[in-house]
Amino acid sequence: MEIMPNRMDRLYYRYQEELEQKALEILRSGWYILGKEVSLFEEEFAAYTGSKYCVGLASGLDALWIAFRLLGIGAGDEVIVQGNTYIASVMGISMNGATPVIVEPDEYYSINVEEIEKHITKKTKAVLVVHLYGMVAPMDQIVELCKKYNLRLVEDCAQSHGACYQGKMTGTFGDIGCFSFYPSKNLGAYGDGGAIVTNHEDLAQEAKVLRNYGSEKRYYNKVVGTNSRLDELQAGLLRVKLKHLDELTLERQQIAQGYEKGLNKLEFILPKVRQNTTCVWHQYVIRCERRDELMSYLKSKGIGTIIHYPIPPHLSEAYAYLGLTKGDYPITEHFADTVLSIPMYNGMTKEEQDYIIEQLQGFN
Ligand SMILES: *Cc1c(COP(=O)(O)O)cnc(C)c1O
Repeated sequence: MEIMPNRMDRLYYRYQEELEQKALEILRSGWYILGKEVSLFEEEFAAYTGSKYCVGLASGLDALWIAFRLLGIGAGDEVIVQGNTYIASVMGISMNGATPVIVEPDEYYSINVEEIEKHITKKTKAVLVVHLYGMVAPMDQIVELCKKYNLRLVEDCAQSHGACYQGKMTGTFGDIGCFSFYPSKNLGAYGDGGAIVTNHEDLAQEAKVLRNYGSEKRYYNKVVGTNSRLDELQAGLLRVKLKHLDELTLERQQIAQGYEKGLNKLEFILPKVRQNTTCVWHQYVIRCERRDELMSYLKSKGIGTIIHYPIPPHLSEAYAYLGLTKGDYPITEHFADTVLSIPMYNGMTKEEQDYIIEQLQGFN
């Protein structure tokens, strides 16, 4: 059997009729940028997350750097972020000239709260929490800490659409929640897309100005902005998928349960879900000391896997200027050396999952 790490075509065919109808409607409308689909998606996604406002943007990275710009965070400021994340989280901080301050994660792949406190300096302006793999960070402790030190709180929810902490959705705990709708995300478009959610009316207004060349009124530019607009086609297709997001999340949770049951007696370290949170399983990440061996073994059985992520941002060439080296973040580095994401996607068949589990059981 051949199994790819992700199969985005499965969902397309599941909702083919609805998606094609919506795409045709938009193509035939003659209106492609900043129209009714974007406004409706913003309303619906704000309501879905329980936020007052949502502003559609061109990508998840834009959502991040625009969030920090809206909060006035830039050169000379420090933002604390976990070491085990996709490099876009860190770029979202540094693109405005702010300095990313990296800290170690906890056993749930979330930022370690005690480590945050140790890294606060006079220059610290914000904490960026990443709900990596669809797992949720301990938001009550983080909110409390940010209050205590008067720090801004931004959430990177690119992998956590619909994930909750004590019933409240990720993205709504701090000042701004940042989302990506890259095709492989839990709520994925058919191209690039992103958004911020916030309860601050002024920030939402300002984001709408920034995304459109700093212009509120056509050809009148208030600030030097950017072009970061979610387009009508993506917004319309996202509206179709948003209606199904809860059932898609449930399907991922059932797949995760299947893995838990099939793999819990083996030598792998399985993901644990933090108490009082719902995990939306963007990835199903196991750890194995012989990770590279496991990866090629699975490949030989036709099973594709991915490492999220093999090079932590602090060891990436792009961040050489931070002056960090191997050994500075042992937990982050250990994760990078041992994590493996096994196939996790909506539309996985029982036969596929049984085959994956069977092959993992045969690894020795
Ligand atoms: C995907 C992702 C991003 C970036 O989103 P893009 O839409 O690809 O720009 C940022 N942070 C995390 C954690 C991601 O997984």
